[in-house]
Amino acid sequence: MLAAAAASAVLLLTTPASAAAPTPGAAGAGDTYYPTYGNGGYDVTHYDIRLKYQPATDRLEGTTTILATATQDLSRFDLDFALPVSEVLVDGHRAAFTTSGEQELVVTPAAPLAKGSRTTVVVRYAGVPSSVSRYGFTAWLRTPDGGVAAGEPESAWWWFPSNDHPSDKATFDVSVLVPDGTQAISNGLLVSQRSQLGWTRYSWRQDRPQATYLATLALGRFDITTGTTASGLPVLNAYSRDLGANDGAARASVERTGELVDWLSGYLGPYPFDSVGGYVPNVTTHFALEAQTRVFYSPAQFAAGSNTSVVVHELAHQWYGDSVSLDRWSDIWLNEGFARYAQWMWSEHENEGTAQELADYVYASHPADDPFWTVKPGDPGPDAQFDIAVYDRGAAAVQALRVAVGDDAFFRILKGWPAEHRYGNATLDQFRSFAERISGKPLGPLLDTWLFTPARPAAGPGPATTALAAAPAPAEPRSWQKIHEADHR
Ligand SMILES: [Zn+2]
Repeated sequence: MLAAAAASAVLLLTTPASAAAPTPGAAGAGDTYYPTYGNGGYDVTHYDIRLKYQPATDRLEGTTTILATATQDLSRFDLDFALPVSEVLVDGHRAAFTTSGEQELVVTPAAPLAKGSRTTVVVRYAGVPSSVSRYGFTAWLRTPDGGVAAGEPESAWWWFPSNDHPSDKATFDVSVLVPDGTQAISNGLLVSQRSQLGWTRYSWRQDRPQATYLATLALGRFDITTGTTASGLPVLNAYSRDLGANDGAARASVERTGELVDWLSGYLGPYPFDSVGGYVPNVTTHFALEAQTRVFYSPAQFAAGSNTSVVVHELAHQWYGDSVSLDRWSDIWLNEGFARYAQWMWSEHENEGTAQELADYVYASHPADDPFWTVKPGDPGPDAQFDIAVYDRGAAAVQALRVAVGDDAFFRILKGWPAEHRYGNATLDQFRSFAERISGKPLGPLLDTWLFTPARPAAGPGPATTALAAAPAPAEPRSWQKIHEADHR
């Protein structure tokens, strides 16, 4: 690749454009799990998303301005998007566009884009997101008083055009005009809120790099609470005014965000962003999502009472997943294994079962012939990406790592990894190298056994002296049910 790039650079310098013919950007980012997600040929640095939303009809009108840099000489490029588009401008000039496949918006600029050039793409669009289905589903959650965009790995297509892959992170401004009385919730800081002639504009800013699936939008009638953590971080939470019997339990959980993020900081290092919080819209789904700085929770997660465990899980993702993001979806263990492990640490803190007891219970409660062990947390495949094994076996793998390297090295790894790759992307291979460097121990066989072998490990996740396979099954840890009733997928 280096040699080829050097050769074409020489051609560019010595011969006019015809010698280095611009080519189309790839229609995917090269992810083996989701070949069409994301695109090639450019790198986005910023999204400016300006919307108008009418809750009564679910009609969304938008203009998104994308700042990007071409990474090759580009004759055309794709965005990922699903709403009807009326106009595309590239550097101020009208561009031709068409759609392809499920979510490709194919843009042909009036003139090719030179490699390394910075470009501005404006896309105008309007539609009813809840009426748009892709791959047989919609990630736009219609509510009685509005709508919500939250989903993994897909959610952007229903509200802004993007390079929809976590390997291309960017900063965001999201500004939404809604009728007075409706609130618009998104990521980061609320930088302004102005009402005029019956409409209110909410402007949000996320000034740290953010993956597209971690951008979120909620439109509806919310009660917004604000405060600061003990460490001084701004907190903003939002609750649908229509949570009914779940309202108290939702608030009793999410209002503890400040306390829990400060507690997590002790293990994971300084919180990476300049705001934190969550929102609970009146949706009927059953998952939570670690939207950056503003976690999405379904009311159903609080139907059995308050649940701080799910809050800990989603907040742990702010380090493991949001600040340090996947470069490819197959490395999902880097997100879910550690977010689940944070729940285990919280269980231990609350005296409801230690991480070791929880890991032992995972091992003992799934016999060797349980299909649970056929899922490889280190490469589960797209259909099992959010399988329970990615979480429970994934967290048991973290415990096995802890036992292997000892607590001192383990907690240096846990805190050091988010610092090493802050605001960036990283792979499971890089994690293995990092953990080996910090611990001074070879970890290949251990991680292969726990993450990449479709079978129950011969030994449990505890110290070698524990003969778990032969021991009577340990009692269910007290936190077990609460951890699992909040499973986010
Ligand atoms: Zn998670």
